[in-house]
Amino acid sequence: MLNAKTEKALNVQVNQELHSAYLYLSMAANLESRNLKGFAHWLVAQWNEEIDHAMRLYRYILDRGGQVRLTTIEGPATEWKSPLVVFKEVLQHEKDVTKLIYELVDLAAKEGDHATVTMLQPFVSEQVEEEANANKIVQTLKMINDSPQGLLMLDRELAGRK
Ligand code: MG
Repeated sequence: MLNAKTEKALNVQVNQELHSAYLYLSMAANLESRNLKGFAHWLVAQWNEEIDHAMRLYRYILDRGGQVRLTTIEGPATEWKSPLVVFKEVLQHEKDVTKLIYELVDLAAKEGDHATVTMLQPFVSEQVEEEANANKIVQTLKMINDSPQGLLMLDRELAGRK
């Protein structure tokens, strides 16, 4: 059984993952409306990943005999000034998520909940990748510096994400 403290923290993280998904879907819609379909595709894939993260936690809470308690998901922004502003926000968001995951691991360790610590390890590893991917796009966008040709090239590259 999960203890109440850990169960509550895992439920907060389910909401956080769904909020991330919501944010990325809103970003995808915004960039697709600017005809940047590759950027939108990348963000929809990100949306899918966040849903998967939420479902992994959902499954885990239930498997440990806990209760899943879904709460209100805050509405994300709907407008961004440029793709660079979008991806700077993605990067910052992922850094914030990393911090939350670390806090969760710390809590589970303090509670002596080894199963939860182990379950969270893939999340810790994936955050390294999430930050690296977002950072790479931010750096490329800075290099492109609003050149339409550069944006188009990056858009095509991002369209290739599986
Ligand atoms: Mg996530």
